[in-house]
Amino acid sequence: MSGRLTGKVALVTGASRGIGRATAIALSNEGASVVVNYISSNSAAEEVVREIGADRAISVKADVSKLDDIEILIKQTIDRFQKIDILVLNAGLLWQNGTLEATDEKTFDKLFGSNVKGPFFMVQMATPYIPEGGRIMLFSSSLTSFSMITPNYLLYAATKGAVEQMTRVLAKDLGKRNITVNTISPGPIGTDAYYVGKTEQMVRMQSNLAPAGRLGEPEDVAEVITFIACDQSRWMNGQNIRINGGMTVG
Ligand code: NAP
Repeated sequence: MSGRLTGKVALVTGASRGIGRATAIALSNEGASVVVNYISSNSAAEEVVREIGADRAISVKADVSKLDDIEILIKQTIDRFQKIDILVLNAGLLWQNGTLEATDEKTFDKLFGSNVKGPFFMVQMATPYIPEGGRIMLFSSSLTSFSMITPNYLLYAATKGAVEQMTRVLAKDLGKRNITVNTISPGPIGTDAYYVGKTEQMVRMQSNLAPAGRLGEPEDVAEVITFIACDQSRWMNGQNIRINGGMTVG
């Protein structure tokens, strides 16, 4: 297999479904070896490994909100592939019931655990194994810059705001080692997580937020991530890349 990422190793969190799955496959199509992380969907993760080929992919069950699990994930990655060139921190919880009134401490900790603590400690534990020219991508959402955001996204947007700020600081820090750190901020993408609790009317309304009148597809995001993983993106660092078909502009 030869491609722009031949010889590179990618670790994609939450790669059994949705955007992470499409990303794992897109990176492998450019020649990368891929670690497919998941939390519970064992057979879906195995299916991704089969699609890529077991010679270039492994699946690792690990809850990224738990430090012990992160340690296992990094160890299994290094045991098999010796390094991490591309770290895609996609795993996260999309949460639509996070109003000020509805959010209790347990829910707050759960969201911050998977969306903020997870990526923070993933970067901390993975960085020693990321060589010069490495790539880190964290995940936010276009909702953080959407002026029509509704109160139910308070908690979710708070976690993603933290991620965006982490990116800015990490880009300055790790940039000295020639590792770029960027945020990926999708708009509505038709994944399992997206459809939870949405009526047909809500889906239609959100589809029309983009001028093309459709939801994004996981592959729309995965192809941008693949470009950022490649050498051609080397001067893009500390940026928030909004992939939303024009739902937000500017
Ligand atoms: P999804 O379809 O629900 O897939 C989530 C993936 O993450 C699954 O592979 C799941 O594994 C894994 N996962 C969840 N919690 C985990 C944890 N604690 N540790 C390890 N893996 C975990 O989600 P998605 O819609 O593709 O979203 C992916 C990312 O994009 C999230 O960060 C989300 O906030 C962001 N985003 C999504 C949208 C959208 O409209 N879809 C918009 C903006 C931003 P299992 O299969 O094992 O459960």
